[in-house]
Amino acid sequence: MKVLSVASEVYPLVKTGGLADVAGALPPALARQGVEMRTLMPGYPSVMGRLGGTGEVVFEYSHLLGVPARIISARVEGLDLYLIESPALFNRAGGPYVDGAGIDHVDNWHRFAALSRAGADIAAGILPDFHPDIVHAHDWQAGLTPAYMRYSGIQRPSIVTIHNIAFQGHFGAQVFGGLELPTYAFALDGVEYYGGVGFLKAGLANASAITTVSPTYAEEIRSAAYGMGLEGLISTRAPVLSGIVNGIDTGVWNPETDPILAETFGPRKLKSRVVNRRAIEARFGLHQDEDPLFVVISRLTWQKGIDLLAEVTDDIVASGAKLAVLGAGDAALEGAFLGAVQRHGGRVGVVIGYDEPLAHTMQGGADGILIPSRFEPCGLTQLYGLRYGAVPVVARTGGLADTIIDANSAALNAGVATGFQFLPVDADGLRGAVRRAVSVFRNPAVWTGIQRAGMRSDVSWDRSAALYAELYASLAPNAPG
Ligand code: ADP
Repeated sequence: MKVLSVASEVYPLVKTGGLADVAGALPPALARQGVEMRTLMPGYPSVMGRLGGTGEVVFEYSHLLGVPARIISARVEGLDLYLIESPALFNRAGGPYVDGAGIDHVDNWHRFAALSRAGADIAAGILPDFHPDIVHAHDWQAGLTPAYMRYSGIQRPSIVTIHNIAFQGHFGAQVFGGLELPTYAFALDGVEYYGGVGFLKAGLANASAITTVSPTYAEEIRSAAYGMGLEGLISTRAPVLSGIVNGIDTGVWNPETDPILAETFGPRKLKSRVVNRRAIEARFGLHQDEDPLFVVISRLTWQKGIDLLAEVTDDIVASGAKLAVLGAGDAALEGAFLGAVQRHGGRVGVVIGYDEPLAHTMQGGADGILIPSRFEPCGLTQLYGLRYGAVPVVARTGGLADTIIDANSAALNAGVATGFQFLPVDADGLRGAVRRAVSVFRNPAVWTGIQRAGMRSDVSWDRSAALYAELYASLAPNAPG
């Protein structure tokens, strides 16, 4: 089975979000399932700079949507890549989507239409040594790929994966001419979207299958509350929609070997976690004691429900727990926590900023991690929490609902509980869940059981890759392997 992945960012080469993690992690995990995945991505300068003369030109366009371009094949960081080398489109400073000042490039429609066009061309067989059985396009940037395939008559199955439906690639109708699609593609079942052109919409309308990054998010985006305008189309396409939860890099996130931790530990050595707890207390200016310690590692935004957390901070302290918050985001929310530190010296601590090593230490020493998100397509911090024995206390939404087993009495009796869920996602819900967690924490045998059950959960990419491989096989039943 050969699959072409089309993505605008791929870890560890370029990353702005979870899409890059998935695009970077799937190829090696799929290889273990017998699937050969190659990845088409833009030849950003940072990526081209890593080729070190190893790239090979495998296709030369006379023009790709009006500009010179060629496709370079290269193996970088263990990934088999096809890079679109096109100085006019991709050789510029800044991030993959924005300029040095953080403003979206005005020709993003052109840049990512070119990515999608090249994806469809590879599906059509322009490369002599790689004829994919399936094309797997990620997010709006690759969303036109299934549309180009359809309007070019390319009979290959395609998949679109939605990592966050908030980003849709919606442009004015004036860009349509530059897409080099037939006029009739500007239609309800084509690329037209609210009078303009919708890249993600075009993908959703034309792909053979749609996935998103958790089964619950797949359900949620069928409703107006989560679908952000696309709920009607998503509902129509529900028969081909499914959710596959992301994995994490269990090599990097391994509490038994993690060199960042003050002390490593495993499920039978949970007492060693105290060394990490002391490190957290020291860093956040918290009292050193055995009271339950909750952490938050998050963007400080409304999506993440951080305003709810600010609202219940006093109650968390009143319940006898301590709170350490690592994050950056809305100034008002940052200020709310700095205020809480003033009120609750030694019980609440805050570090404003992004600090990856500190995030490891926090997962390795906290008793619980609080994740009160209003929506969460998949979420990663709860998966790290499971693996590191920081018991997740989560809103019952998206991937949080799918990855955490609530400590209700049936789950506790069966020994399968891995955390605490709450619904509705409001201050009372969060307050109640923290109270419940604190009360269970007072029973060390039960708490340790929850930690160990979490550490046994399979959060690897292998599990996700097996599900993607199954999906590919169902779409291309005649492909080998
Ligand atoms: P999202 O991508 O919506 O922000 P996720 O839970 O999917 O949420 O991923 C967030 C990632 O960013 C996790 O790896 C988390 O550990 C990390 N992270 C978030 N905020 C911080 C921070 N302030 N410092 C360090 N890591 C952070």
